[in-house]
Amino acid sequence: MSKVLVFAEVQGDDVKSVAYEILGKLSGQSVDVAAIGSIPAAAAEKLAKHGAENIHSIKGDKLEQYTPEGWSNALKNFIGDKGYDYVLAGSTATGKDLLPRLAGSFDAGMASEVVNFTFDGGTFAGTRPLFAGKCLAKVEITGPKPHFVTVRPNALGMPTSEDAKAGATNEATVDAGTIRAFVKEIVKGASEKLDLTEANIIVSGGRAMKNAENFKILNELADVVGATVGASRAAVDSGYAPHAMQVGQTGKTVSPSLYIACGISGAIQHLAGMRTSKVIVAINTDPDAPIFTKADYGIVGDLFEIVPLMTKEFKALLG
Ligand SMILES: Cc1cc2nc3c(=O)[nH]c(=O)nc-3n(C[C@H](O)[C@H](O)[C@H](O)COP(=O)(O)OP(=O)(O)OC[C@H]3O[C@@H](n4cnc5c(N)ncnc54)[C@H](O)[C@@H]3O)c2cc1C
Repeated sequence: MSKVLVFAEVQGDDVKSVAYEILGKLSGQSVDVAAIGSIPAAAAEKLAKHGAENIHSIKGDKLEQYTPEGWSNALKNFIGDKGYDYVLAGSTATGKDLLPRLAGSFDAGMASEVVNFTFDGGTFAGTRPLFAGKCLAKVEITGPKPHFVTVRPNALGMPTSEDAKAGATNEATVDAGTIRAFVKEIVKGASEKLDLTEANIIVSGGRAMKNAENFKILNELADVVGATVGASRAAVDSGYAPHAMQVGQTGKTVSPSLYIACGISGAIQHLAGMRTSKVIVAINTDPDAPIFTKADYGIVGDLFEIVPLMTKEFKALLG
């Protein structure tokens, strides 16, 4: 059995769901959860239900806002000599920035962006995509512990059963050390929707959208089915959508349960970012578009007719 710390990110009155996904794969290990700041009571209860033995809220001066130095110093001080064998976090924007820095500060090994893992006999073995998802590599970590791992959100899926543990809650006060770069201001994006990397359903538009205004029909469908809207690079480069919405090799890598590609040809660089989606639906006027070779469901037709029709039908179905 290994001693594992899962780093959770507080989001509103919960923590980001990837923490629950990770906990679901850790049954049989001794697992603690830590977050910077207060963990809402409902989230702590849920974390305990999913196997957290101890739940730590890490507090300290200058930690309200994420800074790479502050949060990694804080976690390093918290982890100290508590004897964790592994530290796991989601491969979110924060996780991708924080964990490598933390691993570096321990001079320890790390596996990034794994999409699955096992703890056979307490030893981590993971799988991660390489070459834009064309192959999967098996990864193991050697050297001094703790070892660090980031896990791609939505890759493991939410646990279907519970593994309730005590979930004792603690507050730890730590020193954030010297912070040389501060965030002075955060300008929130217009969308209140989940980030693409965490979305369970994504509706994406390509060059065929023709302009930014036409994304309205994707937003309407997204509102009905609870999706986040994405875009191809051609749509982003044409100024129809901001870069934050780009899916693909030079955009975001996503693994939703459902990916609806509207007027996207299916170039290899786009597939690199979404090929691990569980179900892919493609709408395209060209029956030979490469996206159809990866789609589970293909609709040959004009997106400007089909998307509003889907919105209407889903609205009727979902109320
Ligand atoms: C280094 C590099 C990195 C890249 N990174 C990315 C990346 O991160 N993400 C990315 O997406 N691309 C990326 N690209 C670009 C990629 O190669 C493609 O050019 C891009 O994905 C094409 O976008 P698209 O499918 O929207 O446009 P197109 O390839 O032009 O496809 C438009 C599709 O819409 C269909 N269509 C037209 N009208 C309609 C209609 N009314 N209804 C339905 N269908 C219609 C057409 O049949 C066509 O299949 C990258 C390229 C390079 C070289």
